[in-house]
Amino acid sequence: MIRLLYGIRFLCYNPTAMENLANIWQEARAQLEDTLPESKKQWLSKISFEKEENGTLFLSLTSPFYKETTEKNCRADIENTVAGIAGHEVPIEFIVNTEKKSNKKPVSKNVKKEKTEKPPHNPTLNKQYSFDNFISGDNSSFAFNACKVIAQNPGTSFNPCLIYGGVGLGKTHLLQSIGNYIDEHNPKMKIIYTTAESFTNEFIDSLLSKEKISSFKTKYRNVDVLLIDDIHFLQKKDSTQEELFHTFNELYDSHKQIVLTCDRPITELTDITDRLKTRFRKGLNVDLQPPAYETRMAIALQKCRERNYQIDQKVLEYICQNVNTNVRDLEGALTTLSSFASLVGKPVTLEIAKEQLKNFIVTPSIKNNDITIDMIIHSTSEYFNVKEYDIRGKSRNKNITLARHISIYLASLLTSYSLSEIGKMMNGKDHTTIMYSVEKIKSIIDTDESVKQAINTIKEELMQS
Ligand code: ADP
Ligand code: MG
Repeated sequence: MIRLLYGIRFLCYNPTAMENLANIWQEARAQLEDTLPESKKQWLSKISFEKEENGTLFLSLTSPFYKETTEKNCRADIENTVAGIAGHEVPIEFIVNTEKKSNKKPVSKNVKKEKTEKPPHNPTLNKQYSFDNFISGDNSSFAFNACKVIAQNPGTSFNPCLIYGGVGLGKTHLLQSIGNYIDEHNPKMKIIYTTAESFTNEFIDSLLSKEKISSFKTKYRNVDVLLIDDIHFLQKKDSTQEELFHTFNELYDSHKQIVLTCDRPITELTDITDRLKTRFRKGLNVDLQPPAYETRMAIALQKCRERNYQIDQKVLEYICQNVNTNVRDLEGALTTLSSFASLVGKPVTLEIAKEQLKNFIVTPSIKNNDITIDMIIHSTSEYFNVKEYDIRGKSRNKNITLARHISIYLASLLTSYSLSEIGKMMNGKDHTTIMYSVEKIKSIIDTDESVKQAINTIKEELMQS
């Protein structure tokens, strides 16, 4: 079938237009930009044309990790597209060339724009955050794509939008990226980024005089885009909630874009009025999950490139295998090692990394069969048919609470993590909460047949895997 398609494309192919593989690759890249899903495009942007030798197309990547991941994710798409344009199959080799800089287009576009035509900068936005330097993986691609659509069409699609997820998973990064994108492409639009905490403080401050309160209202009700970070902070702040409710209504009714972030789903917010919760739940609610190993590795490589950290591949692998809580911790581990390297004036070895990160990341020593907490949560979530996010979270739903207690119990049983380490990996719970779960399960395991069966089944599955 594929061959037949090549044949048909071959009939339409004009050989004079594409005399060599460099041109064919250029054309293929352009086609792939249009056809590849967003999750694969990030790998495409890392590929450079290297050379043409004896009819083979050599494409290069700047690290072994990029080479491996790009080949895994995009080889078939690239081969098909190149063959379609060439009119015959073209042998393709992927190689590593550490000299070459990534030729990701959007970055250079940005750099150019900043140099030539930058309008006055919006002080509420932080330029360091952009869609270009956000690595999207399975854990975040839905949120990432939704945010891009919002940024491209503010006020028309997905309004309001709420991004929720645990700490350090990129909520602020995405919210700021929306602001920066709109600021760049629609410089006339009035954008305000603020945290719920600043909004609250500013509101309290404005209560001092009539002029201040009126200028506060004017400021927030006359924007095109309102971005409010960490709205969980509004819990128990009744007057601020009331003010936000009216601001929200005015903006919403005039089709202005509102994007909010929260550390949990709206349903789990307590002490927020129902009418405000209902407003937040309109539009789109998207979640961010912790990134998987491959995404952590891609993020780590990018952070090293951005900050010019020289960290050995093996050490990076060690970090990414073990720092699995969130991206902020990952960044922290990279900074710690890079600072250590520059202090002692030599590169960090795996041994040094293990020693330096001992108190910082959870140690990888596992009691049994390399079972990780991620695996335990995954199997438990499947058994109980609940989301992994919910198991790590705070939902009080009966089924989820039981799944959480069982995950924690199994983590204490099957891994050698301490209670506080387990707590850290369960979205920062303290060790007394973890101890409570372990004791709870211990107290019912002998009498509750369904709990016993759940534990045995999950344990068996983990042992097998
Ligand atoms: P949150 O607001 O969810 O607590 P942040 O947006 O502050 O998290 O992210 C913490 C750090 O991790 C920031 O420096 C951010 O740039 C980085 N980060 C998070 N997710 C990603 C990602 N997918 N790609 C690149 N950097 C990320
Ligand atoms: Mg944040």
